[in-house]
Amino acid sequence: MRRKLVVGNWKMNGSRLANAELLAALTAAGPWSCDVAVCAPFPYLADVALSLQGGRMTWGAQDCSSHEAGAYTGEVAAAMLAEFGCRYVIVGHSERRAYHAESDQLVADKAKIALAHGLTPIVCVGETLAEREGGHTDIVVKRQMSAVIHTLGHCISQVVVAYEPVWAIGTGKTATPEQAQAVHALLRTQLHAATPKVEEMQILYGGSVKADNAASLFSQPDIDGGLIGGASLKAADFAAICRAAA
Ligand code: PEP
Repeated sequence: MRRKLVVGNWKMNGSRLANAELLAALTAAGPWSCDVAVCAPFPYLADVALSLQGGRMTWGAQDCSSHEAGAYTGEVAAAMLAEFGCRYVIVGHSERRAYHAESDQLVADKAKIALAHGLTPIVCVGETLAEREGGHTDIVVKRQMSAVIHTLGHCISQVVVAYEPVWAIGTGKTATPEQAQAVHALLRTQLHAATPKVEEMQILYGGSVKADNAASLFSQPDIDGGLIGGASLKAADFAAICRAAA
């Protein structure tokens, strides 16, 4: 049976003081019987590592470079994230695809380099509202997933997938459990053709997950936890979501 995983995506929020308070409150609220991680902005990773080391919660980053090292001003290498004890790195978040024009292939290359450095990439896929309303959800998420499958080959089994409909991120609109389950099942079927280990793979849902809708989403057979944005910034809300997954 797959373990549930709940990951907080802090995005570009926080301060050293606020993060310390948040992590102390979460540590006091846990542990939970699901896996829990937080993905922090780069400058805070050392603090987060210090706060969480030796405990049950793990941590990660929100992006990495597709390059090993070199003249790439402003980028952060997967090897550097590994040095700070990161377990996860989010790649292909819709905000990166939209604001930084990240292509499906770039996302796949980031997933590959993350794996090469011992990190677990959390690969985000998801359709926009226009794509959903146009009836293109399946084509879009399969195209995004397919680039990663082709680049990673059998190593695809080592990634975590996050289905995040763009129209649900930060909007307060959540996919219904049935809508989300339908896309998760579609992704699992696609992954099935690529790896015999598909039943071990965690597919998370993200998009306005809150304490009051988490349990119904997480009870779906192919939803293995959540990628949580806004609600991961408040200890009580995030803890309640972790409880719903446990
Ligand atoms: C996200 O940014 O990955 C996300 C799911 O955000 P929110 O929970 O705020 O919709």
